[in-house]
Amino acid sequence: MDMQVSFLDRLFDSGLLIETGVDGLYGRSGQFEDVIAAFERLIDRIGGGDGAEAIHFPPGMNRAYFETSGYMKSFPQLAGTVHSFCGNDHDHLSLLQCMEEGKDWTKEQKATDIALTPAACYPLYPTVAKRGPISMDGGLFDLQSYCFRHEPSKDPARQQLFRMREYVCMGTEAHVTTFRQTWMDRGVEMMKSIGLDVEIDVANDPFFGRAGRLLANNQRDQNLKFELLIPVTSQTNKTACMSFNYHQDAFGQKWGLSLTDGSVAHTACVGFGLERIALALFAQHGLDVAAWPEPVRKTLWG
Ligand code: ATP
Ligand code: ZN
Ligand code: MG
Repeated sequence: MDMQVSFLDRLFDSGLLIETGVDGLYGRSGQFEDVIAAFERLIDRIGGGDGAEAIHFPPGMNRAYFETSGYMKSFPQLAGTVHSFCGNDHDHLSLLQCMEEGKDWTKEQKATDIALTPAACYPLYPTVAKRGPISMDGGLFDLQSYCFRHEPSKDPARQQLFRMREYVCMGTEAHVTTFRQTWMDRGVEMMKSIGLDVEIDVANDPFFGRAGRLLANNQRDQNLKFELLIPVTSQTNKTACMSFNYHQDAFGQKWGLSLTDGSVAHTACVGFGLERIALALFAQHGLDVAAWPEPVRKTLWG
């Protein structure tokens, strides 16, 4: 009988996630947050010695940077922008009237200077570009942000507002590809240390439309994106809990990121899906954290 109840319903019933009436938009309990905090401390222990510069951006970014990033070319279906009422007294009255009549009151809203952050690393590239050339030792950054993607779903692992922890590396091709490989190895070890079944596979981003098909194939053929997969809601359809992305010099070109020898910087980023990792732990070890295997508890909480 219990098998009929979806994982999402069990998460609601246990209070770990809190319904809001919108698919993919949930509250998180203290217990859920405690698991994420413990996992982030594990990330700190593994990556803390690398000397990354920590920067936390809010979940909204400069819309001008968002436009330059080209996100609307590749993923228009996922984007979110912030709009606000910018009218006068008269406009306010008609707005209220519109709401009263159950009509679309949002049409008169104007785009603000803020777009919702689609991935934790997006605000970083223009920020670093403004600082001038990157030293030949490379740049390493440690980011965490809530991210928005318009992909409503009943799958608890596909949320519309979720957190991404990222390490971003900028430097020579050799430097950033080594960084990516190091984190693929570390990621596998980390997940094993908390009792999760892992698998790494080549992947692609969901580029929009017919032209996007080509971009996706190209990304795959060139091994530019790998995912670390863990069973969350299904044993056969595993969930990407980390991704390892090599951008070649595409972001370097786009943002004018250069190295001190004048060459264009290559970049790579490694992202942890924090909610997905917490959900993988709950799926694997049960909803009662006190009953998790002792070695897992020890790795997470010491
Ligand atoms: P998927 O293929 O499942 O859509 P993705 O390729 O879009 O994942 P990335 O863009 O690489 O994911 O984002 C980095 C990480 O953020 C992913 O590995 C995943 O763990 C997490 N993530 C991505 N989309 C979501 C989402 N909608 N809800 C929760 N976590 C997500
Ligand atoms: Zn990134
Ligand atoms: Mg996706």
